[in-house]
Amino acid sequence: TFVPASRVSRIKVSPSTAAAARARELKAAGRDIVDLTVGEPDFDTPDNIKAAAHAAIDRGETKYTAVNGTPALRKAIIGDIKRRLGLSYGDNEICVGGGAKQILFLALMASVENDAEVIIPAPYWVSYPDMVIANEGKPVIIECPQEAGFKLTPEALEKVITPKTLWLILNAPSNPTGAAYDRSELEALGEVLLRHPHVLVLSDDIYDQVWFKDEPMTTLVAAVPELKERVLLTNGVSKSYAMTGWRIGYAAGPAALIAAINKLQSQMSSCPSSVSQAAAAYALSSDQSFVSESVKVYKERRDYACSRLNAVPGLSCLVPDGAFYLFPNCAGVIGKKTPEGKTIETDLDFVLYLLDGVGVAALQGAAYGISPHFRLSIATSMEVITQACDRIERAVADLY
Ligand code: PLP
Repeated sequence: TFVPASRVSRIKVSPSTAAAARARELKAAGRDIVDLTVGEPDFDTPDNIKAAAHAAIDRGETKYTAVNGTPALRKAIIGDIKRRLGLSYGDNEICVGGGAKQILFLALMASVENDAEVIIPAPYWVSYPDMVIANEGKPVIIECPQEAGFKLTPEALEKVITPKTLWLILNAPSNPTGAAYDRSELEALGEVLLRHPHVLVLSDDIYDQVWFKDEPMTTLVAAVPELKERVLLTNGVSKSYAMTGWRIGYAAGPAALIAAINKLQSQMSSCPSSVSQAAAAYALSSDQSFVSESVKVYKERRDYACSRLNAVPGLSCLVPDGAFYLFPNCAGVIGKKTPEGKTIETDLDFVLYLLDGVGVAALQGAAYGISPHFRLSIATSMEVITQACDRIERAVADLY
């Protein structure tokens, strides 16, 4: 029988994928499941973006492109970063890939070896630790609890930096919490980072346009420009433009790192899909009304779901600044018994109870490195969210 290489046995399959699969299985078996595990917009890709892809096909843009993407896409990325963040990047400071996920993996592959330490604030996106482990690095998890707004503090950061620290991963607005840093918080983190010049920062800004606050979103490099040569800014079109299946992500950062990523990419996939690149270039450089319209809808759902969940005794939900997830604390249900007499000992027990008891599919906080919590996606209709809130309320009321 086939024995996989150790890098495969060291990692696990993305738990979000596994839970979504379980919900699908139950659905296929005829169970009435309200699925709040989805990590992608429920909106369809806007028609004008689809039309841009058709036009690219008709123009014959169906061949390999340059490893670092088409000139049109690079120009659109540079323009978007300039327009929204006021930051200037050169053409040799941009790379593109098959989703931000591939870019993050390549960035780690290009830099991590010999148990280099990668600081990952928890709760974290499930893929970071395994990506680090697959590339022979050592994830260093710092817990950032709800009391701290799920945010990394300068003191906590200072404490975990060692001579072996290579990266700090920041993800704001965050999956799973939606928490984001304001300018003064970024400046305070920047102060620590400036004192430790060997630490690089992976700034995963994939949700930066799904933003609910009145003041504009900011990011580490914009707040602390002195760090520009040490920050890799990653983003993509998946979440902002409802383009998850098109698989286009990109990064902006120091030229030497970008060159290393491109070298790996030249041997890995040559380039992402030419048609998707044309669609992404159009999305980033054309009318942006889809972004503001979809954010308005997410925001209504966020407000509704947060107020419903915060009215449930035993649950408490921080109101996210961005992204499309809620990460309620469920400490108040731990130790209680289900109608079947089973004690809820962990957040996994709680999400299994929600799934089996009332048919709500959610993900346990443990998968994101902080317990007891659970993650709900609001990238689904108000009708589904209302049903889910009704059912969660009933499920918690049935505990004793
Ligand atoms: N980063 C975070 C925090 C995410 O939640 C995701 C998707 O779920 C990604 C990166 C990757 O997005 P994509 O590969 O679709 O660009």
